[in-house]
Amino acid sequence: MKRMADKMKTDVVIVGGGITGTAIARELSKYELKVVLLEKEPDIAVGTTKANSAIVHAGFDAHPGTLKATLNVRGNALYHQIADELGLDIKWTGSLVVAVNEEEMRSLEELLERGRGNGVPGLKMLSRDEVLAQEPNLSQATLGALWAPSAGIMLPFGAAVAFAQSAVKNGVQVIRECPVKGFTMKNGRISGVRTPRGEMAASFVINAAGIHADDISRLAGDSSFEIKPRKGEYILFDKKVSALINNVLFPTPTKVSKGILVSPTVHGNIFIGPNAQDIDDKEDVATTPDGLAEIIAGAQRLVPRLPLGAAITQFSGLRAAATGGDFIIRPSAVVAGLIHAAGIQSPGLTSAPAIAELVADILRREGLAMKPKASFDPVVPRYIPFRELSAEEKQRLIALNPLYGRVICRCETVTEAEIVAAIHSPCGARTIDGVKRRTRAGMGRCQGGFCGPRVTAILARELNIPITQVRKDMLESYLFYDKIEIPADCEVACSE
Ligand SMILES: Cc1cc2nc3c(=O)[nH]c(=O)nc-3n(C[C@H](O)[C@H](O)[C@H](O)COP(=O)(O)OP(=O)(O)OC[C@H]3O[C@@H](n4cnc5c(N)ncnc54)[C@H](O)[C@@H]3O)c2cc1C
Repeated sequence: MKRMADKMKTDVVIVGGGITGTAIARELSKYELKVVLLEKEPDIAVGTTKANSAIVHAGFDAHPGTLKATLNVRGNALYHQIADELGLDIKWTGSLVVAVNEEEMRSLEELLERGRGNGVPGLKMLSRDEVLAQEPNLSQATLGALWAPSAGIMLPFGAAVAFAQSAVKNGVQVIRECPVKGFTMKNGRISGVRTPRGEMAASFVINAAGIHADDISRLAGDSSFEIKPRKGEYILFDKKVSALINNVLFPTPTKVSKGILVSPTVHGNIFIGPNAQDIDDKEDVATTPDGLAEIIAGAQRLVPRLPLGAAITQFSGLRAAATGGDFIIRPSAVVAGLIHAAGIQSPGLTSAPAIAELVADILRREGLAMKPKASFDPVVPRYIPFRELSAEEKQRLIALNPLYGRVICRCETVTEAEIVAAIHSPCGARTIDGVKRRTRAGMGRCQGGFCGPRVTAILARELNIPITQVRKDMLESYLFYDKIEIPADCEVACSE
């Protein structure tokens, strides 16, 4: 493991490379500061940021006056400009909250009122006929819906990668496989961050460690909040059934979640989920038969004719449910220099750019000199997948680089040249799932059955590591433990 320069000095250390940490890193890269982001895993966006509903919420759910309400609406608005700057995949589809009985119709009125209080633009009640005209596959029990035109769908890990790349381009250092293990204190103030790769002097530490934010806080001596994981499970469907729905379809929300939805993805798949189960284990992302049955039943309330035979995979994500229920974004009351961006459950993805602004404001108020950086470049060029190019463009690229002519993922038409580029880009892929998140190799109908071994071989070659060192996603997720020795008399042995 490569060690950091001894007692490397920084203004701000960000702990955690999810959407929260990477958005903060990009925001701070606008200033003349020495900023380092530390992520414990081999890649960024491997926590909650990789497994959620991917919706840019309009902002009518949270109660007025909460951080969730304010930052949701602000974050939604900010994504318009950020999507242009960073080439993010966002589709502004709008969303419908669907009522199937009179009690739910009353909930819609409450949501409308709340949304207007939160400043959500364009909210409107739709009649049964209007909703069914938009969504013919909805339940015939539908009585009406709340239409929120400002909602959208996005690619959460794509956004986190783009935030990180923009931050790196503007001088932030992102160090992966670098878990924070402790802090050094001087007169009640954080003065350093301890990791297995060495210690780093820091004036401020931002705690953006997702479901582990309470553990990080405790390491610094602040036990003011607790985070409990709340699991949400999903089923993803093949693109061939994409015509089933047109908008993000929510049921009326429950006390703990926005309910089980049916939604399109930016790439033309459909998913159902999530449920909401409080669990104890912060690493437990297994799906369960009961959980999947629950989400199927929930989704069928909205869309009865679900094409279950077209399901291609299941996954789950963990909400960071925190004491108090709202986001915890404030300086620690116990440890000077520690700023929490914790308890970032939904709508955390939507709020991330606004959370980043707020954290920058807090740092300013806490006394950090924030001089704007004249050289800040907001743009990360948009990645246009090979499959979306014209025939002439494809021919031109293949002539320049023959690796564009080798399709590695057949389901999603991902070429070897794109995989190589994803590995060598700033904050590039180091794992099989890292390649998948950046290029879609392995995200299609066969879920990596065909391209998995090929991506593994490309990673080994490009990273110059033995195949036994290639990992699926997380720190210890090695796929191969050793080479199988093939006995010299194999043919005889096999035929006997
Ligand atoms: C089921 C579900 C559905 C959701 N749907 C939506 C939605 O549709 N729209 C929306 O806006 N929001 C949604 N959310 C919320 C959103 O996904 C989260 O708010 C967001 O992803 C949180 O990002 P984060 O960066 O705070 O946490 P994470 O993504 O979990 O990132 C934290 C990072 O910290 C790292 N870390 C932890 N400990 C250490 C350490 N000691 N040292 C270094 N690194 C460390 C982790 O490895 C991880 O990468 C949903 C969440 C769930 C679970």
